[in-house]
Amino acid sequence: MTSESDLREEICEAGRRMYARNLIAATDGNLSARIGEDRYLCTRSGVGLGDMQASDLVIADAAGEKLEGDGKVSSEFFTHLAAYEERPDVSAVVHAHPPKAVALTLAGLSMEEFALPELVVSLGGVPTTAYATPGTKEGGEVIRELIRRCDALLLDRHGALTVGNSVFDAYLKMEKVEHAAESLFAAHLLGRVRMMDEGEIERLLKSRAAYGVTGKHFRPET
Ligand SMILES: [Zn+2]
Repeated sequence: MTSESDLREEICEAGRRMYARNLIAATDGNLSARIGEDRYLCTRSGVGLGDMQASDLVIADAAGEKLEGDGKVSSEFFTHLAAYEERPDVSAVVHAHPPKAVALTLAGLSMEEFALPELVVSLGGVPTTAYATPGTKEGGEVIRELIRRCDALLLDRHGALTVGNSVFDAYLKMEKVEHAAESLFAAHLLGRVRMMDEGEIERLLKSRAAYGVTGKHFRPET
C-alpha cells in the first residue's frame, strides 16, 4: 500500500500536471485519495493545484469534516465522498474543469457514444450528469447513479470527474477525457462525427483484456 507521504507527493504532482495541461485554472479542481477507514487525504479550498505543497493537503472523514491539516476542506469534496460511497473499489478521485469537455456539455453534446477507439477500450462512453450548483451537496447526489457504472463522467456546465485505483490512474483518465473531447470538439466544428459500427466496437471491447485495461466500462443503455 502506498504510504501517506508518497500519496501526498502523487497528489501534488497530479495537480501540477492538471494545471500545466490547462485542465484547471487558478484554484479550481480538487483531488483526493482514500487512506483508511473513514479517512481521506484531499486538497483544500483556495490553494492553486499548480504549485501546491504536500503540507497543503488536509485529512477529512466520511462526513466531510476536517480531521487534520490547515485550511478548509474543498467545498467539492462532497462529490468525492459520493464517489467513494458508491465505489468501494476506488482509491482516488480527480475533479477538473477541462475546457473542451465542458464546452461539449454547454452545447448539449455528449461523449457517451462510441467514436474514438482509444476511448472505447479505456473508458467506454463518458456520460454527462445533471447540472448541480458547484460546491454544494447536490454535486454529490447527481453523480451517484452514473459513477456506479463508469470511471469518468462529465458534470454539466462544470467539469469532469474521474476515479481510479491510484491517484495517477484517476488523473490519467482525466487527461484521456479532455484529449478525446478535443478531437470530438474539432469534429463537431468540422460538421459531423462518424460513430463506430457495432462489429468494431465488439472487437475493441474484447481487446480490453489483452491490453490489461481494468475499471468500469460505460455503455449507454439502449
Ligand atoms: Zn469544480
